[in-house]
Amino acid sequence: MAKKENKKNIEKELSAKKESMWLTLEKKEIDKAMKFAEEYKKFLKEVKTERETVEYFLNIATKKGFKDIKSYKNLKPGDKFYIVNRNKSMAMGVVGKDSSRFDLVVSHIDAPRIDIKPNPLWEDQDASLAMLKTHYYGGIKKYQWASRPLAIHGVVYTKSGKKIEIKIGESPDDPVFVIPDLLPHLARKAQGDRKLFDGIRGEELQLLVGNIPINDEEVKEKVKTQVLKYLNEKYGMVEEDFNSADLEIVPAHEPRDVGFDRGLIGAYGHDDRICAYTSFQAILDVKNPKYTAISFFYDKEEIGSDGNVGAQSNFLEYVLEKVYSMINPNYTHTEFLDVLYNSRAISADVSAAINPIYKSVHDIQNAAKAGYGIVISKYTGHGGKYGSSEATAEFMHEILSLFQKKNVPYQIAELGKVDEGGGGTIAKFFARYGLDVVDMGPGVISMHSPYEVISKMDLWSSYLAYKVFLSQ
Ligand code: MN
Ligand code: MN
Repeated sequence: MAKKENKKNIEKELSAKKESMWLTLEKKEIDKAMKFAEEYKKFLKEVKTERETVEYFLNIATKKGFKDIKSYKNLKPGDKFYIVNRNKSMAMGVVGKDSSRFDLVVSHIDAPRIDIKPNPLWEDQDASLAMLKTHYYGGIKKYQWASRPLAIHGVVYTKSGKKIEIKIGESPDDPVFVIPDLLPHLARKAQGDRKLFDGIRGEELQLLVGNIPINDEEVKEKVKTQVLKYLNEKYGMVEEDFNSADLEIVPAHEPRDVGFDRGLIGAYGHDDRICAYTSFQAILDVKNPKYTAISFFYDKEEIGSDGNVGAQSNFLEYVLEKVYSMINPNYTHTEFLDVLYNSRAISADVSAAINPIYKSVHDIQNAAKAGYGIVISKYTGHGGKYGSSEATAEFMHEILSLFQKKNVPYQIAELGKVDEGGGGTIAKFFARYGLDVVDMGPGVISMHSPYEVISKMDLWSSYLAYKVFLSQ
């Protein structure tokens, strides 16, 4: 008897078995998580582009006492600030008592989608339909975007310089748009011989936007002209205004609970707005941190983080040096470099949760399960760890100890099998500054599809993790 008990204890002591948060969390905590999920769904319903995310965050941040950094002369502990970069990326922070390091959570607010080309509109007279040409953005499986209701979001400037904000397809009275697929009856040759990823090709992603011809004998392109007439009457825009516009095509559906038990949320754009939302809520809740805590929200991650609003721009350096100089006006650059080297960051991006239909792509022992908490990845990248920034054993230990101490549920995983594929995050762009950075975010099922799925527990765990990290 004693022998058996002893054996059991050894296993308990030595093995790292994890359990579903649905079983380990107290009822009170689960209730909080479910309430949080409702607010998250409202956010995802409202926000489908990077611009809309910035606007949403700013709106709430200003009500919660965050001020444009320009309105401060100097910064002192407790001050709350934000900096916006071209309406497409931003940083929000709370100044700490000790300026020897920064604690950062960095996420991205763009999501894979389809953009409208600069000369998009045309009419197919054989079909008597008006179409918009598109150029997809980020890593999508193109066939997933056909035959589903789509909305157009974005910004158009008219010749006179008037800014028009467009959002069509979200209200129940709005029309929607669709990329028409081919009927199976006639698809045997045109599509049947293609490989899956090629089922619908880039130039075939065209949006159906009109059918009613204008009643005017003089006009040649009658359906297209009718569409232009509508756009002119409704928005004051002309065809040329497409040239400069930011117009994004996104799924028109709303976030919904998934499953009989409502444990999951299906929505467009969990990657990476789930990390943006949770780190935004976390920075709102940070009170008097020891170190200055900042949440960064970037655009352009899905296309390589290039450009002046992406994570490869110097926005991080710009924000941190500005903040540091406003805390310590007599600082030296060498001193600032030391602070960068001493800083800590979470690269807050999603991981893949096991999809039971395609388990073969994972090494299950090192794969993330829905509902088991935020997924911490020591490294990302692809076969042979290429393209990854790996967190050191020292930093991993520091983070895991922190989460254990503060009761943050987490799991440790890799994206997939070693030679299966892979993916990078923005961690490596911050590692350039010498700071310590580690990847973590919730697991997603059907990532990059128009309807990604996450567990409400992983949403909650991500919020807890970011808050604990930013509140050090
Ligand atoms: Mn991502
Ligand atoms: Mn992504």
